[in-house]
Amino acid sequence: MSNHTKCSVAIVGGGISGLTAFYALAQARRDGAPVEEFLIEACDRAGGLIRTERAGDFVIEAGPDSFLTEKAAGIALAKELGLGDDLVGSCDEQRRTYILHRNHLVPLPAGLKLFVPQRLGPALTSPLFPFSSCIATLRERFLPVPGNEREDDEAVASFVRRHFGKGTLENIAAPLVAGIYGGDANQLSARSALPGLYGLEKQYGSLRRGVIKTSRNSEPARPLFTTLRGGMEQLVDGLVRSGSAGPGADRLHFGQRVTEIRPGGQASPPLPQADSGRYVIHCQNGSRFEADSVILALPACECARLLRPVDAGLADALGAIPYAPAATVALAYSGCSPPTPSGFGFLAPRNSGYRLLACTFVHHKFPSRAPRGGALFRCFYGGVQDAEAARLDDHDLAALAQRELRGILGITTLPAFSRVDRWPLAMPQYVVGHEKRIKKISAAMNKHPGLYLAGNAYSGVGISDCVRTAREAVGRVLRFAEETICPLSPPRSSRP
Ligand SMILES: Cc1cc2nc3c(=O)[nH]c(=O)nc-3n(C[C@H](O)[C@H](O)[C@H](O)COP(=O)(O)OP(=O)(O)OC[C@H]3O[C@@H](n4cnc5c(N)ncnc54)[C@H](O)[C@@H]3O)c2cc1C
Repeated sequence: MSNHTKCSVAIVGGGISGLTAFYALAQARRDGAPVEEFLIEACDRAGGLIRTERAGDFVIEAGPDSFLTEKAAGIALAKELGLGDDLVGSCDEQRRTYILHRNHLVPLPAGLKLFVPQRLGPALTSPLFPFSSCIATLRERFLPVPGNEREDDEAVASFVRRHFGKGTLENIAAPLVAGIYGGDANQLSARSALPGLYGLEKQYGSLRRGVIKTSRNSEPARPLFTTLRGGMEQLVDGLVRSGSAGPGADRLHFGQRVTEIRPGGQASPPLPQADSGRYVIHCQNGSRFEADSVILALPACECARLLRPVDAGLADALGAIPYAPAATVALAYSGCSPPTPSGFGFLAPRNSGYRLLACTFVHHKFPSRAPRGGALFRCFYGGVQDAEAARLDDHDLAALAQRELRGILGITTLPAFSRVDRWPLAMPQYVVGHEKRIKKISAAMNKHPGLYLAGNAYSGVGISDCVRTAREAVGRVLRFAEETICPLSPPRSSRP
């Protein structure tokens, strides 16, 4: 560690993870922590996957549309940023999701937690539970707590089949994981993609028993989802505003794609001996930064690329986390709104004959997202099982979405406009063996003091998970700074 009065911290990536780290470090600095933070982002805007567009009275989310209310970190952050009055719950009187089953929209039975029925009546009378699944469901209550000999990890598909049979897997669980993760139930890890249910199995054996026991103790009903009145980008704006407030405005560097990170001793030219513990960060446009500590808030495959000169084994482990692409198509109808079944939307299984993974009825899910009498549908394409769909050109994708909604919902009117957004690295896939890989990554990271990871690739894919991992990374940076700072020279950065 070099002789600095403060630990300079580079945050690479300006999505919700990087921005949360930036904001939390700024707060710590103002409270006297010995840190000087700056953020480097490849695009010319902040937010990463979070982007909200307004078109007339339509509020269109290109990426995430809400926080899952039960995960507290995102909502707590919004409140901390003074956005508490703008938090809006989903319209839960419309809380219903359909599955496209044999060309009909069939509502998920009441009382279902993901695919676990808390109430038998609605499940056993639903066409989504064929006879064999009904028998499996009745038996499931009596499953014993698994012994230690059970395989440590297994695919979601086999986990669901063991508990509720093949029908529940095909009709409910597989479309759910395709909708949430863009993933394939045969590849995703039950342990990592469904940690709550995996934990219940360990404790109770039966998921039904576990879900019933734990929901009895839970709090009164809250809206399932929470969003921000002006769209999710309000959170991004709040973080940028709060993080960059005050002196030292030059802390945000947009339009700078990092291409390489090297320990100071290996940099070209190498840093002086006293600074050899610092990291040198190279950008595509020739800029070069130095920092004592780096938080990488990027997709894991991008971290892998940047960290190869630092640690090839670590890069291999990071690079082995696969990603699914996604495209969203927003179809906006003003004036005479096409009739929509009451509910938040539907999921389409892969055998439905449609390429659509899921569709949200945005005008039902949240208030004030479409003009009065209008409608806004958001269709999801891509995922690991149909990556090709996410690469169709905008015109073809919008036409496909209209054709498919005509087939499913009978919508024949043309939308006032459509919008296509594309995310090549939309969702990390927590495939079987994910937890072991994460342990390997953590062990390798421990060998590189000052280097930290945050984001959705490791321990949860939602916004609240990103906020949590960013705060954890900041906690480690602050400990690192306290332990290693020795007062003398100031931090440096140089640019062409
Ligand atoms: C369509 C969609 C819908 C979703 N819906 C929800 C939802 O409703 N609720 C929810 O909780 N979650 C949802 N998610 C997940 C959630 O959006 C993400 O987990 C979260 O936004 C990821 O944030 P991040 O900061 O970790 O990564 P990102 O948002 O991917 O940010 C990474 C940033 O790093 C930058 N970057 C990349 N490479 C470099 C480089 N070399 N140098 C500099 N910068 C670089 C990128 O430009 C980007 O800005 C959704 C995701 C998608 C795709």
